[in-house]
Amino acid sequence: MRISILVLVLVMVCSVAYPQKSDCFVTAKGNRLTITHIGHGTLMLSYQDEVIHIDPWSSLANYDTLPKADYVVLTHHHRDHLDSLALSKVYTPNTQLYWTGICASQTKFKADGKVVANGDTIVTPHFRFIAVPAYNLVNKRSNGEPFHPKGEGNGYIFEFDNLRVYVAGDTENIPEMENLGPIDIAFLPANLPFTMSPEMFKAAAIMVKPQILYPYHTGNTDLNIIKDLFVDIKDVEVRFRELK
Ligand code: ZN
Ligand code: ZN
Repeated sequence: MRISILVLVLVMVCSVAYPQKSDCFVTAKGNRLTITHIGHGTLMLSYQDEVIHIDPWSSLANYDTLPKADYVVLTHHHRDHLDSLALSKVYTPNTQLYWTGICASQTKFKADGKVVANGDTIVTPHFRFIAVPAYNLVNKRSNGEPFHPKGEGNGYIFEFDNLRVYVAGDTENIPEMENLGPIDIAFLPANLPFTMSPEMFKAAAIMVKPQILYPYHTGNTDLNIIKDLFVDIKDVEVRFRELK
């Protein structure tokens, strides 16, 4: 089953407005998923004529030119993930907004968002997604607080038919990554001091075992180091996109 998906993945051509920034996939039921790499930790997914904006950030794109959101899903409240300007551009009265409790309490953006916590599952008519932990164990601020304390932020596993896409959020290689179930496509962050070093990124990838892995939220990380670290890992295809 998973091998046949991969074959389809490799032959798909995107017929979208941003082909240079998009990858397309097809589920076992023949539904098409397009992932547009906006930049940094920001993605736009299109699935069955619906648009999901993940952590839209106006520093990365002109959201006046991007499709409105059927869904907005935010991982946490840091300014590169919760941006009221981008939200105001993509949000409509029909948008379903999912965010964390801190997002809801800190933002200037007034909307009827639904708070999602680690462990929650959201079911929509066409897909579902599960909120999973995203936090630091090692990297901390000078006051000793982790950059991302456990429980504040979410990663998400989106399920489009059989296709499972893990968007990890700002996290380190945490033990929960061992138990996410099969992951077809993963976005894992790789920038210090906020998330992972290249070595931590590799450790995370070994736990998650995705078929296709996109380093994202990479900041100033040297991607050649990641490339070299993955030379001996044959069953994960690492795809580099403009996600600095
Ligand atoms: Zn953050
Ligand atoms: Zn971030």
